[in-house]
Amino acid sequence: MALRFETKAVHSGQPPDPTTGAIMMPIYQTSTYAQEAVGVHKGFSYSRTANPTRKALETNLAALEGAKYGLAFASGLAAVNTVMNLLKSGDHVVSANDLYGGTYRIFTKLFVNYGLDFDFVDATDLNNIRQAIRPNTKVLWLETPSNPLLKITDLKGAIAIAKKHKLLSVVDNTFATPYLQLPLELGADIVLHSTTKYLGGHSDIIGGALLTNNKDLYERLKFYQNAVGAVPGPLDCFLTLRGTKTLALRMQKHCANAKAVARFLSKHPKVKRVYYPGLPSHPGHSIARKQMKDFGGMVSFEVKGNVARTKKIAASTKIFALAESLGSTCSLINHPPSMTHASMPPEVRHKIGIYDNLIRLSIGIENVQDLIDDLKQALKKH
Ligand SMILES: *Cc1c(COP(=O)(O)O)cnc(C)c1O
Repeated sequence: MALRFETKAVHSGQPPDPTTGAIMMPIYQTSTYAQEAVGVHKGFSYSRTANPTRKALETNLAALEGAKYGLAFASGLAAVNTVMNLLKSGDHVVSANDLYGGTYRIFTKLFVNYGLDFDFVDATDLNNIRQAIRPNTKVLWLETPSNPLLKITDLKGAIAIAKKHKLLSVVDNTFATPYLQLPLELGADIVLHSTTKYLGGHSDIIGGALLTNNKDLYERLKFYQNAVGAVPGPLDCFLTLRGTKTLALRMQKHCANAKAVARFLSKHPKVKRVYYPGLPSHPGHSIARKQMKDFGGMVSFEVKGNVARTKKIAASTKIFALAESLGSTCSLINHPPSMTHASMPPEVRHKIGIYDNLIRLSIGIENVQDLIDDLKQALKKH
């Protein structure tokens, strides 16, 4: 029986425990496993290689993304690192330029030291991708909606270019989640997640994941997962499984609240510009309509005024916590230039349009009028 999303979220990878009947996946807090004879075991020999709670999570996440294979990691960046382990010195990567600051940092501060080369392009114009491809290009790295400007890349079009040039297409699906967007269905080779965000959903774990339908890729990534060892602990896997059960419900509320907040901000006299793909004025709106089920829970906006005023507004909300990260039940406010995107040099940031008066909101599942009232009082104060 082909199960639908909400049912898979609750059940996939988690049949009742065969030994006790426990309906919740136990936290297998063990590093090693007794073997029946030398080399004879039930698929578990050491928890870096495999752990039952982690396996349940990997199966669950794969089901949600419509993937055959899933791998869980200690963080989203551990997952990024593992993808990059597929490459060799001399290889070239074409990446979207508006992407998670930590991804930009590991590319430009770490992998350049290993002889990898990067070009960062505005992927909302597919011609920029085409023009950046060289004979040694191996990977096309995409993030949509992007962080923090919520740019929308046409996944189908971009992936078609990658296929034509035999590039591996990697889509960071953290902002959209599989509830809203399924890049593997659109042809992507690998989907990446920071499960720290919407999948975990409650700001209480750090985790990452890779999903793919390609067996060979899976085997290679699994080899690196074990060889490098950045695996999540069983408690974090359990908490992430608890998170995915309510993903659909939470995403519906995140999206509805974000839409209302974006509308409120776009009419506010102290707001210069709102970035939300759900607004018809957003340049990626029609593509988002096509490739996403709804428009997500992230809203960015520019305030009228300088950086000092922007920082004061960001620090004046009472319900929104001034904090890094996103995708939580509780609303968060962030000043990307000095927080999430501080690792991006100012001249790079300004070139791609992340200005000093930018504020990013992660809209939680609180009552939306309370969220609007909170923003109203913060904007009034400064
Ligand atoms: C947070 C984030 C990451 C990194 O994940 P961690 O779990 O913090 O290591 C990667 N991509 C995106 C889009 C993110 O938001």
